[in-house]
Amino acid sequence: MTAPRIEVDLGKIQRNTRSLVERLKTRGITVTGVTKAVCGHPDIANAMLAGGATGLADARITNVERMRKAGIFGHISMIRTPMLSQIERICASSETSYNTEMEVVAELAAEALRTSSIHNIILMVEVGDMREGIMPEDLADVASQVVKMPGVALRGIGANFTCLSGGSPNPEAMALLTSLASDIERSYGPVVEVVSGGSSASLPWALGLGAMGRINNLRLGEAILLGVDPVSGASIGGLHTDAFTLVVEVIETKIKPQKLVLQSINPACSDLRLVHDDHWKTRSLLAIGHQDTEAAGLKFPLGVTFGGATSDHIVVETRSSALRVGSEMRLQLNYNALMRVMSAPGIAKIMNNDSPLANEIVDSQCHTRLVLV
Ligand SMILES: *Cc1c(COP(=O)(O)O)cnc(C)c1O
Repeated sequence: MTAPRIEVDLGKIQRNTRSLVERLKTRGITVTGVTKAVCGHPDIANAMLAGGATGLADARITNVERMRKAGIFGHISMIRTPMLSQIERICASSETSYNTEMEVVAELAAEALRTSSIHNIILMVEVGDMREGIMPEDLADVASQVVKMPGVALRGIGANFTCLSGGSPNPEAMALLTSLASDIERSYGPVVEVVSGGSSASLPWALGLGAMGRINNLRLGEAILLGVDPVSGASIGGLHTDAFTLVVEVIETKIKPQKLVLQSINPACSDLRLVHDDHWKTRSLLAIGHQDTEAAGLKFPLGVTFGGATSDHIVVETRSSALRVGSEMRLQLNYNALMRVMSAPGIAKIMNNDSPLANEIVDSQCHTRLVLV
């Protein structure tokens, strides 16, 4: 089989989604499946929907368009605030977008009016990550403008944690979101249908003992795909952490000294020559490099240590057994390494469904059962 390739176990992604959906349902929280790390791969998006995600979200319009072209009909949100240069494409492919700038909302509204549609708006609030978000004290004013604007509908509010700052979501920030939702509704009635309390980083909070307040949605990527908590890096109980496997090929294996050193043979004269130091190791080259992935985010098999990477090579060292040229090595990846692999054109994407589950999607919002044909 061709190498390098990424093998994806769709059954594991579906089961991870199902497990999180079930656990969060008891807390009144729905799951939006985030597809940006897999470039909106339609099979993976469908596995998330089949696992019970109520909708999908992506940060790039190209990924959203890819899913639509593949026939995905579920609700898709743009979770990065839209570029003014992409307004038409966003209205055409996503029902909802996350916004922080009135100038952008006004353009979305104008485009929606032009195409006789309604575009849904979720307003992102700054609660400490210092990436995107409207300052909490400005939210009421922005919400009032959105509510009055024809062409758009205020559908909810949301916040982002951890992405930039690395800080964990805290109960105070969640309580602030709840009170902001209630403030808006006091003025404009029950318009805040969605209160989205963050990403995979919010799971420890959402599955903890505290009250959920009005938080009723999380946007989950990493937890579904890799089964890990992005803040601690720990695996989440009951989830598969090996839905993705990167398979690479060995193109050289040689016993080499740890390093070549220059030594003078005779201190009296200045003749220098290269000699080996004492430590010999088996070094192998893998045909993959910086251009394909984040080498530091790869997990090597037991007995294999990472020696370094260049644009097209990764060097590994082995102690016990030598790796044969032409043999394959199977690696696990972290989120950044996965994201790079999924967008690398030179890596084949192999979708496996060894443990097929019911080929159906349950739309929990309207209680209809849709069968994929
Ligand atoms: C990427 C992203 C998410 C999903 O983050 P994960 O850590 O993969 O769960 C959620 N919301 C926003 C705004 C994002 O950019």
